[in-house]
Amino acid sequence: MRQWGAAMCGLAAGMLAACGAGAVGAAPEPAAYTGPIIDVHLHAASASANGHPPTSICVGISANLKYDPAEPWGQVFGRLAAEPTCENPIWGPMTDEEVMSETIAVMRRLNIRGVLSDAPGAVNTWREAAPELFIPARMFNLAYSRETPEMLGEAFRNGEFAVLGEVTNQYAGFLADHERFDAYWALAEELDIPLGIHMGVGPPGTPALTGGAYRLQSARQIEDVLARHPRLRVYMMHAGYPYAAETKAMLYAYPQLYVDTGILQASVPRADYHAFFSELVQAGFADRIMFGSDQMNWPGLIEEGINAINEAPYLTYEQKKAILHDNAARFLRLETE
Ligand SMILES: [Zn+2]
Repeated sequence: MRQWGAAMCGLAAGMLAACGAGAVGAAPEPAAYTGPIIDVHLHAASASANGHPPTSICVGISANLKYDPAEPWGQVFGRLAAEPTCENPIWGPMTDEEVMSETIAVMRRLNIRGVLSDAPGAVNTWREAAPELFIPARMFNLAYSRETPEMLGEAFRNGEFAVLGEVTNQYAGFLADHERFDAYWALAEELDIPLGIHMGVGPPGTPALTGGAYRLQSARQIEDVLARHPRLRVYMMHAGYPYAAETKAMLYAYPQLYVDTGILQASVPRADYHAFFSELVQAGFADRIMFGSDQMNWPGLIEEGINAINEAPYLTYEQKKAILHDNAARFLRLETE
């Protein structure tokens, strides 16, 4: 399994001017961005979010799995998390408290604020620990969330959350334009609630990890929704990976649409991460990509995700700044410092 990031460029965002493709001796690289950062994809996760702790994740986790279905995938995937085969796995801590405190420590060290979702109780606990760092979000899945649009509208008006997301319908096989989610899109448009929806990859072998429920979808799946609700502020979490052409087509047709980089810094080989995002950037959409770590129970994924952006040879300094901060500030209409 090919590894980089953590080994070569993982220590500090500020060191990254010397990392990446520029090392081969081409034109000097743009400097790494080290100013304030916004992470639009954080989870108030438990330590057991990805199996019995401690669990790990490898950069490029999807590559070279050499899987034989004689053994259930869930078992193999669990073993990979407990006994990683890469040289520099990112380990999660043992306790829920450490997931929170280590995430907060990284955010303070690197001057990050972020959109935080997961179970409402956990989101509240994290906000109480560091209220200045978190924008509360409400996670939602059609398969098990009990909240009606009316209930969500009231909770939003009461200030319980500011972003609707992560909407994880895809894991239950409900695609973006499923009719049962119509009323929720209408609510987000009516109340002007930014909405983040999972559109892209989950863990490798996701269908087997969800009882066969998960289905692939490209950005096209959201087309009718955006056509019907032109004032929606939507970001596609995981950027519709790996369907870059569909993501480009949708960004072109819908200038209000944004994407995030969540988990792609680890779930796919880094070369493919760069191939995907360089295609979006080349098409002129560096102003619509937002940094999201999707750190879950692995606080180390936050810095890994920042480094992936800072090492990108196809990004100017201004584009790194846009992706790591400015685009999210605009999308979320935050006060900028
Ligand atoms: Zn997601």
